[in-house]
Amino acid sequence: MDTGTYSAEHLTNLRLKSTLGVAVIALIFLTPFAINHFIQARYLLGAGSMAIVVLCAINAWNCFYQRYHEPLIFWGLIPAVILFLVLALREQGVIITYWCYPAVVSFYFMLHKRQALIANVIFLAIVFPQTWVLLEPTFMLRFMVTLLSVSAFSAIFVHIIDKQQKVLEQHVITDPLTGLFNRILLNDILEQTVHQNGRTAIPMTLIEFDVDHFKVINDTLGHADGDRVLRGIGEFFKTRVRRADKVFRIGGEEFLILLYDTDAEAGKRLATELCHAIATLALLPYSTVTVSAGVATLEPGEHWEEWMKRCDENLYQAKKDGRNRVAA
Ligand code: GH3
Ligand code: MG
Ligand code: MG
Repeated sequence: MDTGTYSAEHLTNLRLKSTLGVAVIALIFLTPFAINHFIQARYLLGAGSMAIVVLCAINAWNCFYQRYHEPLIFWGLIPAVILFLVLALREQGVIITYWCYPAVVSFYFMLHKRQALIANVIFLAIVFPQTWVLLEPTFMLRFMVTLLSVSAFSAIFVHIIDKQQKVLEQHVITDPLTGLFNRILLNDILEQTVHQNGRTAIPMTLIEFDVDHFKVINDTLGHADGDRVLRGIGEFFKTRVRRADKVFRIGGEEFLILLYDTDAEAGKRLATELCHAIATLALLPYSTVTVSAGVATLEPGEHWEEWMKRCDENLYQAKKDGRNRVAA
């Protein structure tokens, strides 16, 4: 099972929020300077800083409406910032070095790690030779060291935040007992699947399993054995699905498998095989564990809630028909 897409999407969401923050702060602090450049008849600097203000406003607008355009930042805003700082360093000298610090930090907040690193290397490679000719050696050395440290601190800080974010996300979407996906991701994934099916018409099938008389297992053997059964079933499902398929524990003793590229017939066949296989697993020392299953294949134009409801109804039917069986 692959959770990569989910994680990447959420890291982008994190960047979207921090980009909005950076863009708004840049608008507040840069606009007065941009206006002042025009008032002081420094038209080139005025135009440069106004270009940055406009790009920040576009970014803020996009992010406010949940659109994150990394190319606009990487190919638009960053080159504008670098060009402006180079120009301003030539025109106004040492005073402009102060602006290099927030610029370096903002790259890490707006871009993904790799792009931020590239932007930083390019920025430092352009700015250092510029300052070399403008500043006296002792000042230059201090400027280089402090700017490099700020860049390194930011890189480390963002790396740690991203790692923490991934770990937290993994915890949020994982059922601690079985290591399967929990219910949290279910709605999102089913919605995505239905959307994908609308475009590709690849058949998608759901199988919902419910352990038969699980309460009896708990009541007679204890909760620990009940947990062992759930873990065993989870492990078994993990070994039996393909990488693209997804297995969820959606309730106490209820599991759901989302099968990609699987039609109704293949889904029913797999559900039957899995039901039979579970009955032969040695999940408990002296008794057999069985499961019932409901199968439903996504119909064209169907909403995911309706799809899920049909699957539930089929599971209910399998229970009504005597358990340890599949209904499709
Ligand atoms: P049926 O065949 O109709 O499905 O009967 P059942 O006994 O399996 O169904 P019921 O819904 O009555 O019982 C489910 C039980 O699962 C009740 C609950 O205590 C137990 N359960 C829920 N979560 C866990 C868990 O994490 N561990 C254990 N050991 N038991 C759990
Ligand atoms: Mg149940
Ligand atoms: Mg049950």
